[in-house]
Amino acid sequence: MPDMLPELSANEQPNFQSQGFWIAVSAESCEECFEYTPCFAFLLPSGHEELDLEVEEDEPLEWLTHPYEAFLNEIWSLSANAVERMQSFTETYYVDSSDETETPYWANLCQHCGAMLDEFLIFGEVGGGFCPGSFQQAEEQIKLHWYDEPFWAYSFGTSSGDWVELLIAHEFDVSNPY
Ligand SMILES: [Zn+2]
Repeated sequence: MPDMLPELSANEQPNFQSQGFWIAVSAESCEECFEYTPCFAFLLPSGHEELDLEVEEDEPLEWLTHPYEAFLNEIWSLSANAVERMQSFTETYYVDSSDETETPYWANLCQHCGAMLDEFLIFGEVGGGFCPGSFQQAEEQIKLHWYDEPFWAYSFGTSSGDWVELLIAHEFDVSNPY
């Protein structure tokens, strides 16, 4: 097994920031050993900000505020408090890459065989750990833990769905989900 949670030389500027975050816990079936294994993700609340990287070269960079919750996919660098919180849940979330040419990112690894879990399947394929086929499935499978702390990350992108808002409203007081 690689060293646990090595420090990333994070020279990229963060492109996501938030006043708080959830760690979401679910399960994913491993493509290598076919066992179900826990998987973890960072979920940002409505009001999180994303650096707009689509601006012209001579224009200043701007933070956009998003009015929806979003899961971060393929995280290249992460604030230290978020790493520490994640470490309290699992020993199988650390910086890795599936091949040597790829940029390493914070990945979930199978707790049975150590294989890296494919983020595309976790977030993008119906039935994946954070891509439930129904609200009922989301409710049964996904647990959320809120942290009222500043968060930043450099991430390749996000994913979301109508079920996210429903799940938050269901798990927390509807009038004050945070
Ligand atoms: Zn496995």
